[in-house]
Amino acid sequence: MIEVPFFDLKEQHAGLLPELQAAAERVLRDGRFCLGPEVEAFEQAIAQLHDCPFAVGVNSGTSALHLALLAAGVGPGDEVITSPFTFVATAAAIRYCGASPVYADILETTATLDPASVARAITPRTRAILAVHLYGQFCRMEELAQLAAEHKLVLLEDGAQAHLARRHQKTLGHWTQSATLSFYPSKNLGACGESGAILTRNEAIASRLRLLRDWGQREKYRHQEQAFNYRMDSLQAAFLQVKLGWLPEWTRLRREKAASYDRQLASLPLRLPRVDAGNHHVYHLYPIRIENRDRVRQHLQARGIDTGCHYPLPVHLQPGYLDPRFPEGSLPLAEGFARSVVTLPLYPELPETHQSRVCHQLRQTLEELPA
Ligand SMILES: *Cc1c(COP(=O)(O)O)cnc(C)c1O
Repeated sequence: MIEVPFFDLKEQHAGLLPELQAAAERVLRDGRFCLGPEVEAFEQAIAQLHDCPFAVGVNSGTSALHLALLAAGVGPGDEVITSPFTFVATAAAIRYCGASPVYADILETTATLDPASVARAITPRTRAILAVHLYGQFCRMEELAQLAAEHKLVLLEDGAQAHLARRHQKTLGHWTQSATLSFYPSKNLGACGESGAILTRNEAIASRLRLLRDWGQREKYRHQEQAFNYRMDSLQAAFLQVKLGWLPEWTRLRREKAASYDRQLASLPLRLPRVDAGNHHVYHLYPIRIENRDRVRQHLQARGIDTGCHYPLPVHLQPGYLDPRFPEGSLPLAEGFARSVVTLPLYPELPETHQSRVCHQLRQTLEELPA
């Protein structure tokens, strides 16, 4: 019997039900379901919240990545340097462009891209660097921006886990040509279905992204280029407008609960998440590192505690993504993180009783299991 689920949206949506119903009714009565005024209103709101002039809504975080890469000029034969320790969509989007992902290793502390490893991965074919703000904290963007400038590379961000995250008070899109967001239901801001967006300060890029998401047409049936059907749903945009108002408060609650884990777990024999100086972490996930990871998870499961594992296998070791340039052992820090990470239940509505139960059962488990 699971007493503490890893994630639970029911309470969040129960509280918002009247507003979500009203939003759905507005769209149903209006009758426009793809792009349109609801999407434009949401784009404005999400851009403003990130202090960024333009947002382009699309149908998923993966589509957002694909279009951001295409708008950066990434194409066949190009290399894009990114992290192997991410959700597979990051690398998949690079491959959708006909380009190949080149992996740099991560920092042992934060699991974000190591700029020194990125520097070593640059070749004459490198076109772009795609930084992944894993778990909700920024990569060392000023160092990556310097590398990108020196080598004339485009810098992009995968912000699927980093809504409202900041580094030195700067938000998504500050250092980069564009930054992507996902609104998959479990993300810090989640739709009631699929959707995503791209943030950018560059008007020409925003305009190209709008073309690419809607069949390459500015006027109906005039197709400027071969493009995609990656349009955002009006219903999702309406739901997201309701939920977006709560994002700052939900982010505050995530940070508060993460700090509570930090305190309650401080004396246990495990590694807690580390925050890079200058980062405002939004804790999409709360990763701990532990020996005996699989046995600890089994033990916790038997005691009613559900946990996650983000991610058990880095992308370069995924069967569908093998590449002879990156054999097992070639990215040791990413591989080590993948072997030892467990993610604990953390969401804005997580009850305090659940959280202390997680800590109590984790303490018990570690006492019983020999290291
Ligand atoms: C969720 C996620 C994506 C993909 O977003 P979707 O909306 O599910 O397509 C990409 N990158 C990272 C790091 C993610 O966590």
